[in-house]
This record gives sequence, structure tokens and C-alpha cells, in this order.
Amino acid sequence: MENKTDTFNSKRLSILNIWVDDVNRCQARSRVQWMLECSDRAQVIFASNPEKNFSLPKYKDLYHLYQNADLLLPDGIGMVLAARLIHGRHLERVPGVEFFFDICKLAVETNRSIFIYGSREEVNERASRVLSKKIQGLDIAGRSNGYVKENEMEGLVNNINQSGAQILFIALGSPKQERWYATYRSRLKHVRVCQCIGGTLDTLAGNVKRAPDIWCRMNLEWLYRLIKEPKRIKRQRVLPIFAFMVLLEAIRYRIHTRVDFPMT
Ligand code: UDP
Repeated sequence: MENKTDTFNSKRLSILNIWVDDVNRCQARSRVQWMLECSDRAQVIFASNPEKNFSLPKYKDLYHLYQNADLLLPDGIGMVLAARLIHGRHLERVPGVEFFFDICKLAVETNRSIFIYGSREEVNERASRVLSKKIQGLDIAGRSNGYVKENEMEGLVNNINQSGAQILFIALGSPKQERWYATYRSRLKHVRVCQCIGGTLDTLAGNVKRAPDIWCRMNLEWLYRLIKEPKRIKRQRVLPIFAFMVLLEAIRYRIHTRVDFPMT
């Protein structure tokens, strides 16, 4: 890359209690490329979705971390619709699981290696194998399951550093993965890009099925997952509340915009 300055000037939109970046997939990809080429620290990518609007504010430290994240992907249709209603912005959905593949491809193109941390041992191992097959030439410099004990964490950090990987995927679920990043980011010597990927490895290993294309195209992936994993109702029951709050916020925003409009 020729331009070594950070030209990432997308807007960060506030959606109720959280935020999302006004980026499309291509811009998000360029941003990661910039991180790999120019950053001198482990930058972090989180997926922004409606559930986080309710879970994150409970943890002050993580909330602050999230607000200052390096990239907040418009992961689900909920955030895309909210951005349209509140800000009138037409965001492209950038699902974290798909962006994960973009980053892996970028790793191959730029000769970087990756480290995969998270999920149960058999899931991690299988997902790594599937990934190697899917993305030819991908260098998986190291991997670890997500059930490392606190007193073994030092060893894990050493392994990540010794692997030389510049890209780290953390699949511990939320908020564990955010907390791990907050605790260990300053100890990561070579990592320049950290993506928190939640249950992506389960999908990759085939334990959890992604919705067929037609469901994704109709923006009903969340419904498909709910049908397949009814226990997700616990997390998804906040969605109607989110929708209601977004509508209120959109109305409030419009009223305020009108009031503020200079009268001539
Ligand atoms: N997990 C882990 N260590 C833990 C707790 C969870 O590695 O201490 C893994 C778990 O095995 C699963 C993932 O984290 O693979 C959580 O997936 P989930 O779908 O809940 O994450 P989300 O995308 O919803 O945040």
C-alpha cells in the first residue's frame, strides 16, 4: 500500500446505547489492510448487533472499549434498519462470519499468518481444518481452544506471540472475548488485527448451520437461527424492545431536527 496514513474516515453512528460504523464491506476490508500495513498495536473489530445494546452497558469497562473499538461492523439487519430509521443512512450489512473469511483471504494475499483462539478443542481443530481446505495457502500459525485456565493464560499469550501471527481470531462469545482482548491486548507483540468472532467456529465446524441463502437474502437469518436453536430466545427476546426503542428514537430525532432547523 502506498498511502501509509490512516484514511479511515467513516462515520460512527450511535444507535440507542451503542454504535456502528458506516462502512461497506469493501471499506471494512481496506481498513483491515491498513491495520496490517500501518498499525503498531493490536486493533480490534467487533460485530455490532441489537443484543449488545442491552448487554454491553452492564459492563462499564467493556462499554468504553466498545465505544473506542477500531472497527464496528454492521453485523445484523437490526443495526442496518436502525441506522436507516434514525440517521437515514443506508448501510450494507457486513456479517462478522463473512468478514472473517475476507480477513483470512487478505491474510493469504498479504502473506500474514493467523491464530485461532476459542471454542471447544474438537470444534477449534475441525474448524481450522475446514478453513485450511476452504482457503488455499492460509497459514494457521497456531490455535487454541477457548477453555484455557486463568493460570495457563500466560502460556497462551506466549504461544500467540511466538507464532508470529499478525491476525488473531477470538471465539469465546460475548462478553468473554471482549474482556479477553481488554486484558491481554497490550501483551500481544505481533498481532495487528483482532476480530471477535463469537460462534463462527461452530458454524465452520458444521455444528451450527448457517441459514440458507434465501433466508439471508430476506434478512431472516436471525429467525432461522432461532428455529434451529430455540435456546437463543433468551437473547433474542430483547429484539422487539430494540425495535420499539428505535422507532421512538427515530421519531424523537426527526422532531429535534425540525425544531433545530433555522426558521427564515
Ligand atoms: N466459548 C469458549 N470459551 C468459553 C465460553 C465459550 O471458547 O469460556 C465458545 C463456545 O464454545 C462457542 C463460542 O464461544 O464456540 C460462543 O458462541 P456464541 O454463539 O454464544 O457466541 P456469540 O456469537 O453469540 O457471541
